[in-house]
Amino acid sequence: MVDQIHMNYIGGESVAPATGTFLDTIDPATEEPLARFARSAGEDVDAAVQAAHRAQRGDWSTVTPADRGRILERLAGLIEKEREQLAMLETLDAGKPLDNSRGDIDGVIETLRYNAGAADKMEGITVPLGRDIVDFTMLEPLGVTAHIVPWNFPLGMAIRSLAPALAAGCTCVLKPAEQSPLSALAFAKLAEQAGIPDGVVNIVTGLGEEAGEALVRHPLVRGITFTGSVETGRRVMSTAAQGIKPVVLELGGKNPMIVLEDADLDRAVDDALEASFDNTGQVCSSSSRYLLAPGIRDDFVERLCAGAASLSIGPGLENHALGPVISSEQYARVRGHIDAGVAAGGRVRQGGGRPPHLDRGYFIEPTVFDRVSADMAIAREEVFGPVGVAVDIGDDDQAVTVANGLGYGLAAGIYTRDVSRALRIAQRLEHGSVWINGWFMGGVQAPTGGMKESGIGRERGLAGVRNYLAVKNVAIRL
Ligand code: NAD
Repeated sequence: MVDQIHMNYIGGESVAPATGTFLDTIDPATEEPLARFARSAGEDVDAAVQAAHRAQRGDWSTVTPADRGRILERLAGLIEKEREQLAMLETLDAGKPLDNSRGDIDGVIETLRYNAGAADKMEGITVPLGRDIVDFTMLEPLGVTAHIVPWNFPLGMAIRSLAPALAAGCTCVLKPAEQSPLSALAFAKLAEQAGIPDGVVNIVTGLGEEAGEALVRHPLVRGITFTGSVETGRRVMSTAAQGIKPVVLELGGKNPMIVLEDADLDRAVDDALEASFDNTGQVCSSSSRYLLAPGIRDDFVERLCAGAASLSIGPGLENHALGPVISSEQYARVRGHIDAGVAAGGRVRQGGGRPPHLDRGYFIEPTVFDRVSADMAIAREEVFGPVGVAVDIGDDDQAVTVANGLGYGLAAGIYTRDVSRALRIAQRLEHGSVWINGWFMGGVQAPTGGMKESGIGRERGLAGVRNYLAVKNVAIRL
């Protein structure tokens, strides 16, 4: 799989890009090219959407919801068998520590199983309009759906939306991120083996402004799920608006972890280490700003820094706590945020640079900023790297004001032993997920998504399947 030239996957076939050009995917741990993949543009996207459109009208429409569920279940089983190979691909392509990649593939399997079970359980309703009219709703697949995903959980993000779309009876065109296309292409082969008819799942690789943009614009695409940055999400939404297409947008965050003076500090610090540095901080819902009550602030920062200093960092294949960030661009971006934070007067208490023992690869130490004021850029902008900032808060009102003070509204956490107080704060937070005394909670069953500029719509749970169903109302006069 690695060290090859990869084509698009369209209508069940491996198809060369019409442009005749290819891009390199780079191993972030070595900075060396790993493989080549198709650089697709409008013509390739059109072929993929047309294949999906034919499959939507043809083979896929005759498969019952229960059989769609069986196929997804079979696919989950095939992925389980290939778990180690797929995890290895994610590690090579995205730099993830191997255990993280294994966890990601387990998440993919769980997502497929959940949606397999949901396929035949999405029911319409009857509407009471009186004796003379029978009124009911039919839930119908949207049609061809576009799925555009980032590189931080390459297969995980793809399957989070593909699985419910397939469960709902839609056909799909996936554009993986240009930094990490390999696992999606491996997945296509397994989908075929599981019995998904040709054209139901199509994969076009390439750049966002070429392949991604053409996909969003295509007139036969009936729904778009986009996961990525706020900036690109805004652009996707504006293009989708031209065709009046529904969008699900899962965007960025700058997620506050509020730690009050009566918190279980051991738990808060352990969670902060995982929540800030897991996947090298490249998680939309990572905790990237700690809003600390005066009574615990010094203790929290000290323990967090000691914990961060003890985390190992190195190539994903060696399975350290942290791997490299994804690319040279991301490396430069994260370093730029750190430098700007220092220039603005923020104090780096831990990390802040390249680990001295690693002279190749996009490695950045787990970094903690202290004495940051809430209005500094480092406390307001998503870094998407292993960087957390400590901000002082006074009372609960101030915690809520600072937590809600940004355009982002993805996830927030509250640490306190007083559950009533936590719930009072939770009610006031403008975030799609609020976690109390824990982080990264909620499984494939629980809806996830952002408020404000962090997104529109919800993925996971049955809400995830509803994204791909159109409600048709039928009324019969008796
Ligand atoms: P990005 O927005 O640069 O790219 C994401 C995807 O969009 C890529 O596949 C890219 O090729 C494509 N794209 C770029 N320009 C496009 C265009 N004009 N039209 C269509 N597609 C286009 O984001 P990124 O840097 O790859 O990912 C990091 C961001 O993703 C962070 O902001 C992170 O918070 C966010 N994210 C959010 C979630 C969530 O669930 N809310 C999950 C993971 C990542």
